[in-house]
Amino acid sequence: MLKTWLVPKFEIQEDNTRATIFVYTLFLCAILLLSLYIINSFFDLNSGFPFISMFVAICLLLLLFKITKSFQIIGNIISALIAISIFNLSLKTGGIFSEDTHALFIVPVIAFVISGKRSGLFWIFIAAMLILYHYFQAGTAQEINYFRSQTDQFNKTYYLVISLIALILTTIPLFIFKIQYEKLITKLEKNREYLQDKKNKLQETQTKLEISNKELDQYAHTTAHDLKQPIRTIYSFTGLLKKELEKNKLENENTKEYIDIIQKSSKNMNQLITDLLEFSQLSNKTLKTEVDLNLIVEDVKISLKNLIEKTSTVIDNNKLPTIEGVPIQIFQLLQNLISNAIKFKKNNTSPKITIESTEGPNYFTISVTDNGIGINPVDSTKIFTPFKKLHHTSEYEGSGIGLATCKKIIENHKGKIWVESKLDFGSTFYFTLKK
Ligand code: ADP
Repeated sequence: MLKTWLVPKFEIQEDNTRATIFVYTLFLCAILLLSLYIINSFFDLNSGFPFISMFVAICLLLLLFKITKSFQIIGNIISALIAISIFNLSLKTGGIFSEDTHALFIVPVIAFVISGKRSGLFWIFIAAMLILYHYFQAGTAQEINYFRSQTDQFNKTYYLVISLIALILTTIPLFIFKIQYEKLITKLEKNREYLQDKKNKLQETQTKLEISNKELDQYAHTTAHDLKQPIRTIYSFTGLLKKELEKNKLENENTKEYIDIIQKSSKNMNQLITDLLEFSQLSNKTLKTEVDLNLIVEDVKISLKNLIEKTSTVIDNNKLPTIEGVPIQIFQLLQNLISNAIKFKKNNTSPKITIESTEGPNYFTISVTDNGIGINPVDSTKIFTPFKKLHHTSEYEGSGIGLATCKKIIENHKGKIWVESKLDFGSTFYFTLKK
């Protein structure tokens, strides 16, 4: 409340922090002065200190800072006010012989802290001038004689030197600190610029990559489309050839086998191309909605019903979360993982699949664990590349694009996918989805 009211807003975060500290400090001073004034009046202490006018001055300063938003102006005004009051005080209490003169060092300190280096230097000069003024005035003003008698073991030059040393000793470290601080800030600024530059370049490269990826997808899509036609022709003409051979009674075991092989291969090829087509289209479907993973798992179970029943697969899942995603893609992802878990089962063992989720601060991590043949850890990243298969088609059917599709889907959802497995000990596929 107080912050939004009093602290002016700056563009730079560091300035905002500085402004907050500054305003709170002044505010505390104001409260302190007011309380001291109340205590003074309450106990009738009759202190000569101008509590109330200082309180008003600080309130005015706060207001002025809110209006001008300038550390420069405010720092100089505060330095000027303090310089005047210390100077007046020291005039009354002995000029160059007064301890109050030493307190002038506070003036450039305030200027350094609030306004900056240049103001600090300016107020060192002013404070030194005031001290010199006292020095040259010493001995002429009547009231100073009294203090002189008290301090006649030292002459006025001693006090001049002490005042100037106090001024220098307190401001020089600050000055050095300020220079170091500014050097650090410049360095940080340079680093920030460098990083920004790198970020821009990275973004440029990313845009280029995205364009080239789209072009590649487009290319794959067109090529896949074009390839389908000749395959369809091969398939249908071998069918016709088969019929023709049958009609003319020319078929024998060998021709039958050859034709079957050609038809099976063209079917496989057709499936491969269909998979490739789907793969190339993945990044185009990006309409995200809320997806309840429990419902998706149920849909997958329905779509794989025959396979599940045939292999006596048991699928368990704990309560899964609802995420933001493209429903058809999440379905495809889980279908691929679950069907792989069934496909790569151990001989004479029924597949057992467990689907679980854990919640992180930004992501859900979903795991699909099976009790299948497992994967050699050295292959755990390779299997996510398109058409990479660890087994021959005669052992396990498949085009080798399932996990590449999963990876692409997860990348579309800004997540990660990986596998942890050991040969013969089953596999666990993990993927993350944004909350
Ligand atoms: P496909 O299943 O069509 O062969 P995928 O891309 O789905 O292709 O899988 C790539 C390879 O990863 C598979 O050929 C198989 O060797 C291995 N793999 C995938 N899932 C599993 C699993 N659950 N258990 C063991 N091996 C697996």
